[in-house]
Amino acid sequence: MDGREALRRYLEQRKELGETELVLDTLSVEEAMRILGAAMTSSSREAEPSADWRSAIRAAGGAPPARPSLGTPAVSENVANVTSPPETVVPIAAPQGLVVGASARVPFDDSVAKLDTLEVIARAVATCTKCQLYATATNPVPGTGNPNADFMCVGEAPGASEDAQGVPFVGQAGQLLTKILEAIHLKREDVFIANVLKHRPPGNRNPLPDEVTACSPYLVRQIELVKPKVILALGTFAAQTLLETKLTIGRLRGQVHRYYGVPLVVTYHPAALLRNPSWKRPAWEDVQLARRILDSAVAPGA
Ligand code: SF4
Repeated sequence: MDGREALRRYLEQRKELGETELVLDTLSVEEAMRILGAAMTSSSREAEPSADWRSAIRAAGGAPPARPSLGTPAVSENVANVTSPPETVVPIAAPQGLVVGASARVPFDDSVAKLDTLEVIARAVATCTKCQLYATATNPVPGTGNPNADFMCVGEAPGASEDAQGVPFVGQAGQLLTKILEAIHLKREDVFIANVLKHRPPGNRNPLPDEVTACSPYLVRQIELVKPKVILALGTFAAQTLLETKLTIGRLRGQVHRYYGVPLVVTYHPAALLRNPSWKRPAWEDVQLARRILDSAVAPGA
């Protein structure tokens, strides 16, 4: 496959995912220009190699999208390399997204509504038989972290490592999540981390609708008890399940949704970031947005 065809397929894949911005990760502007067959103008040549890729393509006659103006500092290519803490509360400049549920409500499952602590929920999950997943899982994975966390992460379902240990996000993806949290100056133990499903689907298959329906009350109740200031939904499945939508993750990113009154930001699942390093940059923008919401919520007078 020649380079032009590879780039065409890459762009189509991105478009199908609902993305409108191209992030050049390992490809230099010069390489991309060569693939595109665009003549390098003197201005773009002079600008190499450090020029913004948008400027270079614009100079060659293209019109790439403007960089999103979210009021963020420069984007890090590696979320683990950020060390300086945020010093000021940066205004949130992201569109409002979907709204699911009301801010005050009675959970739809009465028995779960009566579970009054996270420990009680964990015990209920351990003996739950509301769907078939308990039968094939090794351990329940109810969730872990600070019961009073301001920041909550929600993923899809336990994987093999999580199933073995009974703790969410402990495999490779979990280690990356820990680094992502550290990059926005949050310790893993200060955050509450849970999944939509509390038992592992066999072979990591996609959760079935009846499993999600059966298990969701536990998550909703956890959110009610933890009372986070912001929720970070990790991955397509968690985002679509929480927001009750089939919109792609590319369409759901970059907005502030509401889940039972709690601001919710969508980003890629850490496992997807491991497979697609080029998504680290948009993911970094997402977590910074979540961080700004948190900063605004806990700022004096908020
Ligand atoms: S996955 Fe959820 S609903 Fe299904 S058995 Fe486990 S705790 Fe119960």
